[in-house]
Amino acid sequence: MSSIVSAAPHTWPAELFIGGRWTAAADGGRMDVIDPATASVIASVASASVVDVDAAVAAAQDARRGPWGRMTGRERSRILLRAVELMRERTEQLAQAESLDGGKPISLARAIDVPGAIDQFEYYATLAPHIDGAVRETAGQTFAFTRREPRGVIAAISPFNFPLILAASKIAPALAAGNAVIHKPAPQTPLSALLLAEILAEAGLPAGVLNVLPGAGAELGDALVRHPGVDMVAFTGSTTIGRIVARTAGECLKPVMVELGGNGANIVFADADLAKVVDTVIGSFVYNTGQFCMAGTRLIVERPIYSTLVDLLAGAVGHVPVGRPSDAGTVVGPLVSAAQRDRVEAMVDGAVAAGGRVVAGGTRLDLDGGFYYPPTVVADLPNMAEAVQEEIFGPVLTVQPFDDESEAIALANSTAYGLAAGVQTADISRAHRVAAALDAGLIWVNTWSALDHAVPFGGVKSSGWGRESGPEALDSYLRVKSVTIAVDPGPAG
Ligand code: NAP
Repeated sequence: MSSIVSAAPHTWPAELFIGGRWTAAADGGRMDVIDPATASVIASVASASVVDVDAAVAAAQDARRGPWGRMTGRERSRILLRAVELMRERTEQLAQAESLDGGKPISLARAIDVPGAIDQFEYYATLAPHIDGAVRETAGQTFAFTRREPRGVIAAISPFNFPLILAASKIAPALAAGNAVIHKPAPQTPLSALLLAEILAEAGLPAGVLNVLPGAGAELGDALVRHPGVDMVAFTGSTTIGRIVARTAGECLKPVMVELGGNGANIVFADADLAKVVDTVIGSFVYNTGQFCMAGTRLIVERPIYSTLVDLLAGAVGHVPVGRPSDAGTVVGPLVSAAQRDRVEAMVDGAVAAGGRVVAGGTRLDLDGGFYYPPTVVADLPNMAEAVQEEIFGPVLTVQPFDDESEAIALANSTAYGLAAGVQTADISRAHRVAAALDAGLIWVNTWSALDHAVPFGGVKSSGWGRESGPEALDSYLRVKSVTIAVDPGPAG
């Protein structure tokens, strides 16, 4: 196994992981991994091609026919729980990997990403022994029951913004259900995915049950989705690519989960606790440098408190610590790439051209050659402005006023997305009414981003379909088989 050394004393695997072995790409391909904080190359990682997809699928199918396919849920659970212990022991190494290639502040990686991924494995390890079917009453002389079986080989494709948590949110339930997995991490952030493969192998996962194919470009992902040996696709990423993945999976008639982009609306009524709202709102759009699908990027504020809240936010945003991901006090680090920083900058410029008023941020930050853009608040935009309607995927908040509850709901539901939405109010009846009326998969009342792996996570409309987390995710990785057995009525019949 070759490994890279980029932040002593930590090392990371740097090859493909197929059939339990570290292996070079068949065509010798490699890709550079960039540190977004400095724009420098920190690693060279093997880059898979279509030929490697064939090898990974064959390894996964072999693994399904081997001991893994015969294990009970309790046996699978033991392996996952051993992985949980190893992940806990290697928390710092996982956090360093997560921070280094994604530019994620190390304090967030330690406090949220690594524990969040560990939680997923622990949660699904506890569910694995309880996968059972049902006995159904039948009218004839038969005995009928259902079996909940693994789907087979899962292609798990993930984006760059939460590499470890999003890998875990697919791999943990898929393995708990007894599937084999081929994981394609995003090319910007492959390090933690490779570490996770190493950890699961050390925990006793049989060879070929988890295969990891880092690589860049649509061809690799497309080959995975299309491969006849892949039985299900679990995709998280942009709405644009999600549409392509869903279309291809549809042509192949294979089940697909698509967890896609978002553009969360957060409605603030005049009776809300404003000091609390300011903290909630800032967290809702600066967390992970705004690169999170459930970001609350559209603030919709009741007119009597509109100016006050805009002023409070403008003041508070200036105190958010922006800086190097390696500094423990940093809350906002760099964006993942120069392209992402340029996109965010162009969206803010477009917002100004559309009549928006920048009340905080709005100018890129020069630091170490990294891809920094500060938290930015744009007020007074018309609802049809691109910055309001589209996902920006950077630390940018738009603010709009409303006059009554129905207008607030109409504004909140006016984009193509439907992942997250929220309402901040002291009136509990209004909270219930608005939560029911918001067209999104996740609703937060007097909070934002409160997540628990027991609670299903996913969107509606152009934010995709399917649910991660909770027993719902486990169900997605299982298929139901009905078995009906003739029963001889015997002498009395
Ligand atoms: P992306 O560009 O859609 O890429 C996601 C993954 O898809 C990458 O691994 C990418 O690989 C791969 N891919 C590209 N073309 C493909 C194809 N034709 N077939 C199969 N796979 C293909 O997304 P991103 O920029 O990494 O991530 C940001 C997006 O993810 C945002 O829109 C965000 O909202 C969304 N997201 C959603 C959730 C959720 O749960 N709803 C969570 C996190 C992020 P290459 O880059 O190598 O092409």
